[in-house]
Parts: sequence; structure tokens; C-alpha cells
Amino acid sequence: MTDAPEIPVRVRPEVAALPPYKQGRQAGADAFKLSSNENPFDPLPGVLERVQGATALNRYPDATAARLRERLAERFGVGTDAVHIGAGSVSILAQLVLATSGPGDEVVYAWRSFEAYPWLAVVAGATAVQVPLAEGARHDLDAMAAAITERTRAVLVCSPNNPTGPIVTQAEFDAFVERVPADVLVILDEAYAEFVTDPDAVDGRRVLASAAHPNVVVLRTFSKAYGLAALRIGYAIGHPRVLDAARSTAIPLSVTAHGEEAALASLDAEDELLQRVRVIADRRDRLAAGLRDAGWNVPEAQGNFVWLAAGDETAVFATAFEEAGVIVRPFAGDGIRISVGEEESVEKVLGIAASVVKNLPEGHAGVRASVER
Ligand SMILES: *Cc1c(COP(=O)(O)O)cnc(C)c1O
Repeated sequence: MTDAPEIPVRVRPEVAALPPYKQGRQAGADAFKLSSNENPFDPLPGVLERVQGATALNRYPDATAARLRERLAERFGVGTDAVHIGAGSVSILAQLVLATSGPGDEVVYAWRSFEAYPWLAVVAGATAVQVPLAEGARHDLDAMAAAITERTRAVLVCSPNNPTGPIVTQAEFDAFVERVPADVLVILDEAYAEFVTDPDAVDGRRVLASAAHPNVVVLRTFSKAYGLAALRIGYAIGHPRVLDAARSTAIPLSVTAHGEEAALASLDAEDELLQRVRVIADRRDRLAAGLRDAGWNVPEAQGNFVWLAAGDETAVFATAFEEAGVIVRPFAGDGIRISVGEEESVEKVLGIAASVVKNLPEGHAGVRASVER
């Protein structure tokens, strides 16, 4: 959005009404930036060297990212046609929604969930159908199944759910998919799959292995666990026919050679990856436990972030964090997402969270209620 004067160029009204994308605030030198679910570690061993050696900058990349597709196909035990690479998994989300849903069609997803979902539906010209989260800030898959109509073309399921944290269980997902008509696409967004420690969580690999539901596509990304957010690379695994539709709506050549090379190098460093993921999951568990001890209501946290259900006090609390040197992600009127960052940030967040609770002014009933809820 800009202050520039209006001009008569006609923009689709639903697009004109969209708020501009707001990135998590950039942090000052001495602040912790815990607002974008980024990985606090340096790239995995070998990644920088391989990226530096990746092809000349004057050449276009391989349009199909064939080497990475082959590598992931092997890993998931599928054919290469069942793998599709995108410039971040958000771009694949957009391709799939565009490929399935247009004006008059409905896209069903939980809310609150990933900020991009409402935007994807609007840009496709489709109608967003938001199904409120259930108790514990979890997906209400029964209600989501019930929200499917003959106009529904796509359903988005986010596990673990960004920004609230809980997973969908395998049993819940299996029962849900049984209820979804075979001609409706189910997108299982597993951007945080690597951080999951709950053995009951849905696992896209299991869903794909059963091959019972070719209408399910699994999305994963190198942005979070692999720490390659800057290089924009993610992937989808699913039925080749569905992925062909995504390939048809994709902007060609948007996956760079450097992104592909970095992803390949990262897959070579599996042991180091698992080690870091364990460190982050452990920090997350300590952070969530510490916050609960201080009286905050923190739902199950299975990604690389925790959620404070701050309700109406969200803006006040977020300011308190920022003034103390921690940039968090507030969702107005709803809550605050805090990413799991550097080790030193854990103590810092817990300290701020405790003092916020201690200093709640009298008469701020909403604050106490939200803390104790
Ligand atoms: C971060 C995220 C993604 C993907 O991000 P990319 O960087 O585009 O790969 C997808 N879904 C959710 C829920 C996310 O939080």
C-alpha cells in the first residue's frame, strides 16, 4: 500500500481490498528476531560451497529441478513425476489453489492457521471457507469435513498448525480423508514436519505410502528445518496428475539453480540436520514448559514456535516483548507466535513473559483471563 494518488487503472476489487503482506519485523543488532519461524543455525555443512559452485548466473536453471526431484522421489519411494519443486512451498500452495479453484468455488481451511491461506483463495478468485479451531487451538476435522459442499475444490490441513502449534493425528487425518469426496483436493501442509516429536502425528509419508487417496498432496519445505528460507525452495509429493496441474499454473523457472543445489547439499547432511532439529525441539519444549509454569496458556507446540493465546492483550504483550529486545509475531486480537531461536533467547523470552505476568495492572481482567485460560 502506498500514499501515491489514485489512478484510474482498474484492479479486481477483491485484490484492491487485500492488505499488503506484512513481514515479521526485522530485528536490530541486539534483538532476537523470533517472528518468522526461521532457523537460528548456519546452513548445513557443505551447503555454502555447493551454492557457490552452482552454475553460471547468466544461465536459466533446470526448469524441472530434475536432480532434486529424483533425490526426493527415492526418499519418498515414489516416481519422479510424483514430485514437484517450487520456489518455496507457498508457491506450490498457490499453484494448487489456482489449478483447482476459481470464482464460485470454495477453499476450506482451519482458522486461525497460516496467513497465506486466505490470500491464496482471494487471488484465485475463489471463496474462502474458514472453520474455527477446536479446543486446544487444534484443527476441527469433523467440522471441516462437514463444511465441504459440492462447490468445494480444495481443503488445506496444516500440521503442525502455524501459528498455534498442535498437530493433527494420523487417526484423525485418515478418518477425515475418508469423508472427503475423491474429486476434492486435500493439501497436507507439513512445513514443520521435521520438528514433530508426537508419535501420533499424521505423517505425509504414511499417507502417500498407502496410496489409497490420490487426492492428497503433501507439501514440505527447506525453509524451516533445513534453514534455507532465503533460497526459496519447497516441494510437493502427490499424484502425477495433480502435480501436472500445479506445473501448469506455475511461473516457469522460478526455482533457482542455487536453491536446488542447496537443497541437494542439505539432504546430504542428514545426520547434522537431525541433530539440529532435536536441539530446536528440545528448546521448544523447555520454552513451552517454562511459559506454562509462568501461568500462560500454551497449546501443544510441535513446530519450531510456541503460541500465546493473548486475545485482546496481544498488542500490549507484543510491545512488551519488543521493548525488551525480542521481536515476536502478533496476530491482532488473537495471540502471539514466538519462534524457537538461539539458545540465549529461551531465557530471555521466559524472563519477559514472567515479568509481563507479574506486572499485569489491576483491573486488566482480560489479561489475567487470557493468561489463565
Ligand atoms: C513457512 C510455511 C510454509 C512454506 O514456506 P516456504 O518458505 O514458501 O517454503 C508453508 N506452510 C506453512 C504453514 C508455513 O508456515
